Amino acid sequence: MAKTALVCGAGGFIGGHLVKRLKREGFWVRGVDLKFNEHAETEADDFVIGDLRDQLVVRDVVDRKFDEVYQLAADMGGAGYIFTGENDADIMHNSATINLNVLDACYKRNNKRVFYSSSACMYPEHNQLDPDNPNCSEDSAYPANPDSEYGWEKLFSERLYLAYNRNYGMQNRVARYHNIFGPEGTWQGGKEKAPAAMCRKIALAEPGQSIEVWGDGLQTRSFLYVDECVEGTIRLLRSDFEGPVNIGSEEMVTINGLAEMVIDIAGKDTGIKNIPGPLGVRGRNSDNRLIREKLGWAPSQSLRTGMEKTYGWISGEIQRLHNQRIAAE
Ligand code: NAD
Repeated sequence: MAKTALVCGAGGFIGGHLVKRLKREGFWVRGVDLKFNEHAETEADDFVIGDLRDQLVVRDVVDRKFDEVYQLAADMGGAGYIFTGENDADIMHNSATINLNVLDACYKRNNKRVFYSSSACMYPEHNQLDPDNPNCSEDSAYPANPDSEYGWEKLFSERLYLAYNRNYGMQNRVARYHNIFGPEGTWQGGKEKAPAAMCRKIALAEPGQSIEVWGDGLQTRSFLYVDECVEGTIRLLRSDFEGPVNIGSEEMVTINGLAEMVIDIAGKDTGIKNIPGPLGVRGRNSDNRLIREKLGWAPSQSLRTGMEKTYGWISGEIQRLHNQRIAAE
């Protein structure tokens, strides 16, 4: 009998990659999402289109004991969605409801171990003011002071999963993802993150044109390639460590530095124009000491390698859509 897995948020970016990986390992996979993935056909054996805010849907989806359960569904987006303040009520209500429903249904169906994807956005703003020395060690989370409601919801839900461990004998696993990127992610429409937005802007730039980059460009981040995120996710679920633990890259880069890297990959003469825009914290980097200690593993791939693959995919998508338009005319 094949092992079984449930992936909530399987129509999303990381969920889609996770389903592929579990299929390669021979799992029977059920995916659930509000929508199919826009960029790749799902490899899930059973894909349920459903709203995890609805308890009846959740009860139908969690109808058995799975060997592995991954909860990645969330109302989320890039800085343009999370940091403007306009979507705060939706972000908090939708994601908290999903987590309350999924976790409780899993508990009731004797699914004792659920993976939960929290975010580096839950770290306190005051530790991320210096772009050269942000502190994102796991034990720096409290006293809490995330800079977005998205981060506060993640903090609440982390605590929820760990409370079920303490009170109900569950073995949930909590990871804090740091800026995941790669092919088959959102790259246009307002919910895309910096790496995808840079690739799109640079791929579309005319010769000699400049692309717009939010802020002064000196804010720092690290970015983790999606395959390594999936690897860390699976390793954590199967380990005896509950977390919370960072899953991120320690290769910190300024946002202008990221743009310059993509310009170099593209081989174009594009310039950079820094403009005001939603920003988030001043500096953020993963701290991988704990994951190394507890799992004996940490991500190791260079940012450049991942950005080359991502640029190749996004410029290919732009070309594909362009060809489709021409053919339709
Ligand atoms: P994503 O937006 O591509 O995937 C999330 C999926 O959840 C979407 O497909 C969405 O349709 C689905 N969803 C939302 N509301 C739902 C509902 N009510 N019912 C069913 N499905 C619903 O995001 P992602 O980048 O794949 O992120 C996956 C998880 O990792 C999220 O929880 C996110 O908060 C977390 N995370 C991601 C990053 C990152 O950089 N991508 C960083 C930190 C944390």
